[in-house]
Amino acid sequence: AKKAGQGSYRFYEPQMNRELRRFVETRDTLRLALPREELVLHYQPQIELGAGRVVGVEALLRWNRPGHGLVMPGDFIPVAEGSGLIVPMGRWVLNEACRQAAAWHAGGRPGLVVAVNLSAVQFGQGSLEQDVDAALASSGLDPACLELELTESMLLRDEPGILDLVRRWRTRGIQVSIDDFGTGYSSLAYLKRLQVNKLKIDRSFIVDMAGNQEDRAIVQAIIEMARTLRLKTIAEGVEDATLASQLRFMGCDEVQGYLYSRPLPASELATWLRQFDD
Ligand code: C2E
Ligand code: CA
Ligand code: CA
Ligand code: CA
Repeated sequence: AKKAGQGSYRFYEPQMNRELRRFVETRDTLRLALPREELVLHYQPQIELGAGRVVGVEALLRWNRPGHGLVMPGDFIPVAEGSGLIVPMGRWVLNEACRQAAAWHAGGRPGLVVAVNLSAVQFGQGSLEQDVDAALASSGLDPACLELELTESMLLRDEPGILDLVRRWRTRGIQVSIDDFGTGYSSLAYLKRLQVNKLKIDRSFIVDMAGNQEDRAIVQAIIEMARTLRLKTIAEGVEDATLASQLRFMGCDEVQGYLYSRPLPASELATWLRQFDD
């Protein structure tokens, strides 16, 4: 920083802290990503273990950044959240995911559910409830085929109105799941009261299950308590078949992970779905 006058500091590019510079640079190019149509959704299948069928897909955001290739959400979502850009971006995600799901329904996949990740920032700022309504209205998607993924921390932050909002979504038939479950501190009883549908057991527990008896016990306990409360469970990050059959044996309802498929662009997912059926 250079002294620029009475007690004020002006920052010059070369001296800027590297992280700050990267944030500013990413933010400024990210701002153009929407109007330039550089955002894309990839979809990862969710498989019901009992029937062995694909019941849903999770929409995962990617940024086709010129000169950088496909950028993963970990590298730009924090910037989008820190700059408020997540609000228009999240709106785009909702619209695109609903539009795509409606197209799959029309193309012979009725009932396929699309799960959309929400950011805490969308609850705090902006117009989330209207954005969800608008995405459903313009796509014509059955609300029961839209699933909104929340995290425990969002609910515990107790953003004013969030609990009522979740209940209104549930009343309309929209599905609500808790992402990364097990990493926060919410009780299952609380989630039941909220009328959440499904718990997504965090990948960290799933990854270590094979070798770690404690993690296996945690997963088993989550599944059993969820069952008692009539909540569905899905295990994320399932990478091998042994794990999938173990989870099935333990009573887990659904699985998602590289064992079945990585997240794929819509057209590739359509091909994958046809092959999975055969
Ligand atoms: P998440 O919601 O927990 O998503 C699961 C992540 O695990 C995804 O990473 C997915 O590609 C990855 N994954 C799935 N199966 C496996 C597996 O078998 N093994 C391993 N190692 N990884 C697996 P991705 O796509 O990089 O997304 C990272 C995070 O970015 C997401 O975590 C979510 O929190 C956030 N995110 C993605 N899309 C959106 C979005 O549209 N809006 C918001 N607000 N956040 C998003
Ligand atoms: Ca998720
Ligand atoms: Ca997750
Ligand atoms: Ca996560």
